Formats: sequence, structure tokens, C-alpha cells
Amino acid sequence: MTEHMKVVAVTGAKTLEIVELPRPVPKDHEVLVKIDGCAICTWEQRVYSTGKFKMPFLGGHEVVGHVVEMGAKVRTKEYKVGDRVALSVINTCGVCYYCRRGEENLCVDSYANLSEDLGMNGPGGFAEYKVMPPHKLWKLNDELPWEFGTFAEPLGCVCNSVDKAHIALGDDVVVIGGGIMGILHMMVSKLRGAKVILSEIDDQRRKLAESLGCDITFNPKEKDAVAYVKELTGGRGADVVFDTTIFPAVAAQAIEMTGKLGRCIMYSSVKPADPIDLIPDELHNTEKIITGSVSPSIKSFDTAVRLLNKGLIDPEKLLHGVFDYQQAKEAFETAITPGTYRVIISF
Ligand SMILES: [Zn+2]
Ligand SMILES: [Zn+2]
Repeated sequence: MTEHMKVVAVTGAKTLEIVELPRPVPKDHEVLVKIDGCAICTWEQRVYSTGKFKMPFLGGHEVVGHVVEMGAKVRTKEYKVGDRVALSVINTCGVCYYCRRGEENLCVDSYANLSEDLGMNGPGGFAEYKVMPPHKLWKLNDELPWEFGTFAEPLGCVCNSVDKAHIALGDDVVVIGGGIMGILHMMVSKLRGAKVILSEIDDQRRKLAESLGCDITFNPKEKDAVAYVKELTGGRGADVVFDTTIFPAVAAQAIEMTGKLGRCIMYSSVKPADPIDLIPDELHNTEKIITGSVSPSIKSFDTAVRLLNKGLIDPEKLLHGVFDYQQAKEAFETAITPGTYRVIISF
């Protein structure tokens, strides 16, 4: 007899449906995971708000569950049935140019075929069960609250970004934007021995950042951000700037406040994708590096799990709340309310 499971699918703008589908059965080389919960990230919020994606959309890529069944040919000793695991659900093909070079976060097929087997589109975390390849599961410590495990993916994105910044002890690091990603950048940069300056317009977010160890915070509506960063850094500009906002104008400022030899990382998807002015001669004279960062690599996902398992990053204050999947509508509405930190749907 076929077993069934419930999934939460977006079927149009602001429209959700709880759909019953056949529960997936793991093949010999696969692992079946019962999902405990999945956080609602920006991607899912955007699709829910606009309805712009191939429908039905089965979102969810910040996923935690526990292993319920291992295929006959799964030989790993890294985890066993009953263990709590973080899931890396974004596809990596393993054979493209970037996967072969160990840069699988740039895989050319990363968004292909997601949840196609269920007749849906999207990464598939908002479901009761998910079948996974063994190498895409990371064991979480029993002592770690399961909700914290949903941060493995976003923290993995941040660790990839921070790796690209090559922070040295005592560096001046500017983080633009004090949302979840900005705060995580601040926390990981502190672990790397940086002095961190946060630019954020919201008072509550600045207060939270300060309570979590941020050295300096300021409101860019009250101060000229570029001038202030230069003032704080002896006129040089920052060694590292992370832009976690979505505005082209802010991206231009981020480049401007980056000092000689500095590294400027475009962390966010910048929308609208408008061009900004760039003066090649300035790059020539300063040797500053401008780059971006997208998704977690296997290595940075692994780093994120270690940081969480060892309690080196505590995401508790970035967690807004947990809603049962029956309250998915309320969960999404809460998640899209400005100023809200992570909302999790539990199954
Ligand atoms: Zn995410
Ligand atoms: Zn690939």
C-alpha cells in the first residue's frame, strides 16, 4: 500500500495549499528523511508574495529532519537511522565544469529538476518526507535544538562569503544590512578576529547586533556611510565590505568604502539588476577586489554545521518562531512582515 505525506505548496500569489502526495521511497543508494522543520527564506517569500515561478512551487531549502530509512547500499557511518540531520537540498550535478573544480555552489544545474519527481517545482523542504543522496546530509548534535539546524544552509552561504573575504586578525570589516544574513556575517567575522562595523537603518536591528558583539553600528540615514567608514579607518576605507542589501546604489557605496587591497563582497542578489558606475582607474590604483558570493559550497556547509554543533554560532536571537504546517499561511504572512527574523514551518 502506498504511504502518503503532506506538503505545503505555493499555487499562486499569496496562495498556499496543503497537498497530499505519495511518500517517496528511497532507492538502494538513497536515504529517507522525515522532515522536522524548514525555514522560510527570501526565495520562498518572494515566490509566495508574487506568484512568479513555475507553479505549483514546493519551496524549502533550509531543512532539518531525522533519518528514518537508509537504502540497502548506503554504507556511511557518519549517521544512522534516528539521527538528526541538516539537508543540503540544492542540486549539484557533480559533472559540470564548476562541480569538477570543487566549486559546486556554481553548478550549472543547481536549480534543475528540483521536486520534479513530485510533480512540483522548487527545492522541496516544505514536506513531511524527502529522499536524499547520502552525501547531502550532515549529522547534527543531539544537544543542538533542532530549530538551530535550519541555519546550516544560510550560515553555509555566509561562511562561503567570509572565506572569499580572506579576513586577517584585526581587519576592519563593514557589514551593510542588519538582517539575518548581515548579523551572521558579523558573527562569523568576529570569529575570524575582525573589528566589525554594521550599517543598518533599523534601531532594533542595530541593538541586536550590538548585543551579539558587533563593535560599532550606525544609521546610514543619519551619517554619510562612506565618509564615516573612512573616518573610522584612518581615512583608508575598510579591509572588507559585505553588502547584504539588495540596492544597486548601496553596492556602489560598498565599493567606494572599500580601502586599498580591500575585498568587497556582493552577497545579496541585487535587485533591480541595474548597472552602477565603476572607475577602472580606481581599481588600478587601489588593487581592491570586488567579487560576489552565492550559495554554500560543500565545504562551507560543513563549516556551518561545525559552528552550530560546537555552539560557536548561536542563532537563537535570529529565530522568530515555529508554526505547524497546518498554519503555513500564518507562517508565510509573518515571514514577509518587514523586520521579522526566521520563521520555521514544522512537520
Ligand atoms: Zn536560504
Ligand atoms: Zn554541476
